[in-house]
Parts: sequence; structure tokens; C-alpha cells
Amino acid sequence: MVDCVVVGAGVFGSCTALRLRESGRSVALVEAIGPGNPKSSSGGASRVIRMGYGADEIYTRWAVRSLAAWKELFARVGRRDLFQHTGVLWTARQGHPHAEGTLAAFAKLGVKHESFAAREVARRYPAMRLPEETIGIFEPDSGALLANQAVQAVTREAVRLGVEAIDGAVLPFAEEGRLERIVTDRGRTIEAATFVFACGPWLPKLFPVAVGRRIRVTRQPIFYFDAPGIELPVWLDFSDPRGAYAVPPVAGKSFKLALDQHGVAFDPDGGARTVTPQETAAVRAFLADRFPALRDAAVIECEVCQYESTSSGDFLLDRHPAMPNVWLVGGGSGHGFKHGPAVGEYVAGLIDGAPGDARFLWGTKGEAAARAVY
Ligand SMILES: Cc1cc2nc3c(=O)[nH]c(=O)nc-3n(C[C@H](O)[C@H](O)[C@H](O)COP(=O)(O)OP(=O)(O)OC[C@H]3O[C@@H](n4cnc5c(N)ncnc54)[C@H](O)[C@@H]3O)c2cc1C
Repeated sequence: MVDCVVVGAGVFGSCTALRLRESGRSVALVEAIGPGNPKSSSGGASRVIRMGYGADEIYTRWAVRSLAAWKELFARVGRRDLFQHTGVLWTARQGHPHAEGTLAAFAKLGVKHESFAAREVARRYPAMRLPEETIGIFEPDSGALLANQAVQAVTREAVRLGVEAIDGAVLPFAEEGRLERIVTDRGRTIEAATFVFACGPWLPKLFPVAVGRRIRVTRQPIFYFDAPGIELPVWLDFSDPRGAYAVPPVAGKSFKLALDQHGVAFDPDGGARTVTPQETAAVRAFLADRFPALRDAAVIECEVCQYESTSSGDFLLDRHPAMPNVWLVGGGSGHGFKHGPAVGEYVAGLIDGAPGDARFLWGTKGEAAARAVY
């Protein structure tokens, strides 16, 4: 019998297990495939860590806190390289509400940044073609996290501090009443006082009643292009409804480019992880518009990952409505990775009895997509 079982060693589960252990609890961390595995949402080579969230101050605060926590952890485990300090560039049409909200939040919270006019964007990034009146916002302290390796580092540190790592998939159970124990597909039974389920895109399968369609799992292709000579920080483009983002070469990968739109429904177990000609054509068209010199750039690699999105894009961090000792932790909604340390801290606080913020409560999650958080 342990104090807490955390199920799922993605970024949310591993950071929560570490935090629970640091607060003195006995903790077991159960993982079906492996920490940061390629099917999981935390499984890619890189994830952006940026501070800007429009007027959504809570996420700016969490990103600031998480970046400090990531850097502290990486220093502790001797892997400072897991944060790549590239800076983050935003481009957006002048007056774009998200850019305006970001600048206001930065000013209020004292987040270091530069903002500059269209002419300066063109001067600094001559390879890029942007619509007229596109402004730039630069976050000099932000960059990219080496995602799958970072999750593995968190898990290793949790184990070093005494968390028991258990391999196996937790089998389904009735969604009702107090949970006494879980059973894995490898025949292991684990009893605990508190259970945290951080199963990412698998949450709807394990909790069809409470989660079900409250988290929608969508297909998200990512492309790596051969782009020699393109010098960019991490880049987020709000100047165009296709909403692309790019990560410069890190972790031995090439120039990463993806469109941040929700794809079609996706099964994290059986969904095909090869890209389609239509997906390739869409991202190539964007690349050619923004970087004419890369019109014919070779695709070096592709990945298909999945978003697990709540209706608004706010995370789901709350007690199961019918299970008093079960906590649901997920709904990363395409932007959760960077917040891993803040999520772990928040969930440990909830278990200690802290009140939850309304935006993360189960009761605020609808079934109809109405994305509000970017
Ligand atoms: C293409 C893409 C790009 C993204 N870009 C960014 C970005 O730039 N910046 C950012 O901050 N965020 C980004 N995100 C979002 C971020 O990666 C996710 O929000 C985050 O990784 C979700 O982590 P998680 O721990 O909730 O889920 P996961 O990483 O999926 O972890 C869940 C874990 O649970 C395990 N599991 C499932 N079921 C069971 C079971 N029954 N028993 C035991 N174990 C189980 C799985 O094997 C898995 O390891 C992106 C996501 C994608 C897909």
C-alpha cells in the first residue's frame, strides 16, 4: 500500500509523481509503454516553451514558473542541454488581440521581451515573407525543451528519490465510488489511498463516463525539412489562420514545422502514424509562402502525434466526479508540455486540499470544441 499511485509517465504524470514524492509521500508510478514513448503526447523530440498566452495570465505565470523549475531540474540531473535557449519569436498582424493581450500580460508580469515593427521583422529575418503590417514579439529567455528526454529525466529523478516505477497497463475498472486498488495487465495489484490518472490521450478510454468526449483526441502531423541557411529562433506565426510554428534544429533533428490546427479524430493505440499526401501538401504550401527559398526543401522526417484537447483548451485537473480518491490530470490541449512542473505542483496542492481554479475543474469541461487557449 502506497500513499499515491500515479498512472501514466508522460510529462504530467512524471512531474506529479516527482512533486508528490518531494512532499514526503510514498509514490508508485505506473506506465504502460515507457516514459515519453513515441505514442504518447510527450513523445516528440522537442516542445516549445514560451511565456506568451494572450491575455491568459495564469498560463504566462505557470510558464515562467515552469521554465525556472525545468532549468533547476536539468542542472540537478546534469542535463542543462534539455532546455535549448533559442528565444521565441511571435509574428502577428498589427492589432491582433492575442499579440496585444500578450504584450499587456508581459508588461504587467515583468516578462522580458522585445516588440518590433514590420520593417524590423523583415530586417532581422530576411528569408521570411510575411503579410504587410506583421509585427514581431521576441521572448529572449524562452526556447525549446527536449521533450521525450526531459520526461525520462524527470522519471529517473523521481525514482532516485524513491518513487517506485512499475511497468504495465492499468486495466479498466468501474467508475464509481472509492478506488481501493488497480490491477495491471502484467498481473500486479497496487493499493493506495490516492490515485492520479495522467493518461493523456488514453483518459477517454479509461474513463468513458467522466471523460469520454470531454477530451477529443486529434491527429497532428509534424514535418522536419532540410533547411540549411535558415536562422530562426522558435517561431509562432499568428499572421495567418493556418497558425504554424517552427523549431530550429535541436536534438539532432532538422527544421521542424507544423500547422497548429486540430486534425481529425485519432486513436492513440491503432491510429496510422504516417503522414498523408494532403497533410504534406498543406504544410509545404505554408512553407513556400513564408520561405520562398524552401519551396522545394526535402522532407527529412515526419511524425504523427495527437492532441488531447478539452473544449476550451484549459487543462482538466480535478477530482473524478464519482470517485472521491481519484484525480484526473490531462487535457494538455496541444500546449501542456511546458507546464509540467506547474501542473505537478498544482495537483499535489489539490491532493493536500487546496481549492481548484475554476478553469481546470471537471464541471467546466464541455463536449463541443470552442478553443479559447492558444
Ligand atoms: C504535435 C504536438 C506538438 C505539441 N507542441 C507543444 C509545444 O510546443 N509546447 C507545449 O507546451 N506543448 C505542446 N504539445 C502538448 C504537450 O505535448 C501535451 O500537452 C503533453 O505532452 C501531454 O502530456 P500527458 O502527460 O498529459 O500525456 P502523455 O504524454 O500522452 O502521457 C500519458 C502516458 O500515460 C500512459 N498510459 C496511458 N494509459 C495507461 C494505462 N492504462 N496504464 C498505464 N499507463 C498508461 C501512456 O503510455 C503515456 O506514457 C504538443 C503536443 C503535440 C501532440
